[in-house]
Amino acid sequence: MEHLVRSCYKEGGYIFAKKAEDIAREFGIKRIARLASNENPEVPSPVAVAAAEAAVRHANRYPDEQAYVLIKALKARYGDYPFAVGVGMDGVIETLIRTLVEPGETVAVSTPTFSFYSLAAAAQGARVITVPRREDFSVEPGALIRAGKYAKITVLCTPNNPTGNATPPNAVSEILDRIGGMLFLDNAYIEFSEIDYLPLLKKHDNLVIGRTFSKVYSLAGLRVGYAFLPAWLLPYYQRAGTPFTVNSVSAAAAAAALPDSAHAVRYIGQVKRWRKRYMDEIRYPVLPSDANFVMVDVSPRTGDAVVDLLARRGVIVRSCRSFTGLPDHYIRASIGEDWENELFIREINTL
Ligand SMILES: *Cc1c(COP(=O)(O)O)cnc(C)c1O
Repeated sequence: MEHLVRSCYKEGGYIFAKKAEDIAREFGIKRIARLASNENPEVPSPVAVAAAEAAVRHANRYPDEQAYVLIKALKARYGDYPFAVGVGMDGVIETLIRTLVEPGETVAVSTPTFSFYSLAAAAQGARVITVPRREDFSVEPGALIRAGKYAKITVLCTPNNPTGNATPPNAVSEILDRIGGMLFLDNAYIEFSEIDYLPLLKKHDNLVIGRTFSKVYSLAGLRVGYAFLPAWLLPYYQRAGTPFTVNSVSAAAAAAALPDSAHAVRYIGQVKRWRKRYMDEIRYPVLPSDANFVMVDVSPRTGDAVVDLLARRGVIVRSCRSFTGLPDHYIRASIGEDWENELFIREINTL
């Protein structure tokens, strides 16, 4: 019966990090450093956990379709912007594409980058154009503008996954001025940088900024994302979205996590200390990063080989081979707890 499946799902799909548990079982290792998925290693804020526990007691009821509690928390934190929410930022990306892109229309993506944009666009029947970055992984605005002239959505991740570098706001502003459609700016890692793209929202009505609770807020398992979007787009986004997207437990936890800035600040401090130590102490070239991970050039080895060797030593990192447009000699490693980062540095330096 497989002939019934759509052609875009016949092969491919999202590549998941190797499961730490699998490696542990395979090599008999008990303590695994999990540095493959850019998560905050700290468990969620106790206030977020308490809010989730309180919400789950009322889970017999459908959630508030407006996610009022979460939107209120976002407005208290960032100001009175129009906000959309989704099941992770992945959910936001999917809904945004569904809202705007007709089959056959174009989505332009600055690459190498996070793979889900292309998967979600293909699922919508879009034509995906990839726009390679320069050799140092900086964005060439002219190239993205040329592709973005005729694209419904242009996608730019900053700080970029997996390369870690950010695109300056003035370059983003130029892109916004000159493309034909929307710009989706993926800010999954913005909290780890010093950059603020929010002022661009005032000047550009073609900008959507995606954010997530999965990274600095320690809520990856609850799947909550949100976006700053222009007011004109919000009612259409809501119409295109699945009814009752964010569940009541996740919404309550995210709303409670947001004001707990001490939790975020702790990990941001950890990230800034260890980004420097990774640069200074790893014997392979480490690319400068504005995120909670770094990309490491492990040539002459391949990323896959290094991931395998490190896994046998109890350190899970991510090979960058699956990132289209990147040579095969890179790995991406997150900043975790001290012992995880120390183990990673020690082990990679023996390779
Ligand atoms: C982690 C990540 C996301 C989304 O995460 P969700 O868990 O779906 O909120 C989006 N973009 C990039 C670049 C990411 O790394």
